[in-house]
Amino acid sequence: MKRPVMVTIEQSRRVRLLATAEYALCPDCGVETWMVPPSAFPAVSEVTLARVIEGIEQGVLHTGKIDGQLLVCLGSSSNL
Ligand SMILES: [Zn+2]
Repeated sequence: MKRPVMVTIEQSRRVRLLATAEYALCPDCGVETWMVPPSAFPAVSEVTLARVIEGIEQGVLHTGKIDGQLLVCLGSSSNL
Protein backbone atom coordinates (compact mmCIF):
# COMPACT_ATOMS: atom_id res chain seq x y z
CA MET A 1 0.00 0.00 0.00
CA LYS A 2 1.41 3.37 -1.02
CA ARG A 3 1.71 5.82 1.83
CA PRO A 4 3.61 9.02 0.99
CA VAL A 5 5.45 10.17 4.07
CA MET A 6 7.94 12.75 5.21
CA VAL A 7 10.88 11.15 6.95
CA THR A 8 13.37 12.82 9.20
CA ILE A 9 16.58 10.90 9.56
CA GLU A 10 19.37 12.11 11.80
CA GLN A 11 22.80 10.85 10.97
CA SER A 12 26.09 12.21 12.20
CA ARG A 13 24.45 15.46 13.28
CA ARG A 14 22.99 15.94 9.82
CA VAL A 15 19.26 16.05 9.42
CA ARG A 16 17.79 15.38 6.05
CA LEU A 17 14.24 15.43 4.89
CA LEU A 18 13.22 12.84 2.38
CA ALA A 19 9.84 13.64 0.95
CA THR A 20 10.21 10.82 -1.53
CA ALA A 21 10.80 7.92 0.84
CA GLU A 22 8.11 5.28 0.95
CA TYR A 23 7.37 2.73 3.62
CA ALA A 24 6.53 -0.10 1.30
CA LEU A 25 6.76 -3.81 0.78
CA CYS A 26 10.22 -4.84 -0.37
CA PRO A 27 9.73 -7.79 -2.74
CA ASP A 28 13.04 -9.32 -1.64
CA CYS A 29 12.75 -8.81 2.13
CA GLY A 30 9.08 -9.77 2.02
CA VAL A 31 8.28 -7.13 4.64
CA GLU A 32 7.45 -3.43 4.68
CA THR A 33 10.54 -1.29 4.95
CA TRP A 34 11.89 2.09 3.88
CA MET A 35 12.37 2.36 0.14
CA VAL A 36 14.13 5.41 -1.29
CA PRO A 37 15.04 6.57 -4.79
CA PRO A 38 18.66 5.74 -5.74
CA SER A 39 19.54 9.45 -5.80
CA ALA A 40 18.39 9.82 -2.17
CA PHE A 41 20.22 6.74 -0.95
CA PRO A 42 23.57 8.51 -0.27
CA ALA A 43 21.74 11.04 1.93
CA VAL A 44 20.68 8.36 4.37
CA SER A 45 23.64 6.02 4.21
CA GLU A 46 27.40 6.16 3.77
CA VAL A 47 27.01 4.72 0.28
CA THR A 48 27.91 6.77 -2.78
CA LEU A 49 25.51 7.02 -5.71
CA ALA A 50 28.01 5.17 -7.91
CA ARG A 51 28.05 2.28 -5.42
CA VAL A 52 24.26 2.32 -5.26
CA ILE A 53 24.06 1.96 -9.04
CA GLU A 54 26.64 -0.84 -8.92
CA GLY A 55 24.65 -2.59 -6.20
CA ILE A 56 21.47 -2.37 -8.26
CA GLU A 57 23.24 -3.72 -11.35
CA GLN A 58 24.76 -6.57 -9.34
CA GLY A 59 21.42 -7.36 -7.75
CA VAL A 60 22.71 -7.00 -4.18
CA LEU A 61 20.45 -4.03 -3.47
CA HIS A 62 16.74 -4.77 -3.35
CA THR A 63 14.62 -2.70 -5.69
CA GLY A 64 10.97 -2.16 -6.35
CA LYS A 65 8.82 0.21 -8.36
CA ILE A 66 6.06 2.43 -7.04
CA ASP A 67 4.14 4.52 -9.53
CA GLY A 68 6.86 3.78 -12.07
CA GLN A 69 9.61 5.13 -9.82
CA LEU A 70 12.55 2.90 -8.97
CA LEU A 71 13.08 2.63 -5.22
CA VAL A 72 15.85 0.92 -3.31
CA CYS A 73 15.38 -0.98 -0.04
CA LEU A 74 17.34 0.76 2.72
CA GLY A 75 17.72 -2.49 4.61
CA SER A 76 19.62 -4.05 1.72
CA SER A 77 22.45 -1.50 2.06
CA SER A 78 24.08 -3.97 4.44
CA ASN A 79 24.60 -6.21 1.40
CA LEU A 80 27.09 -3.76 -0.10
ZN1 LIG B 1 14.72 -5.45 0.96
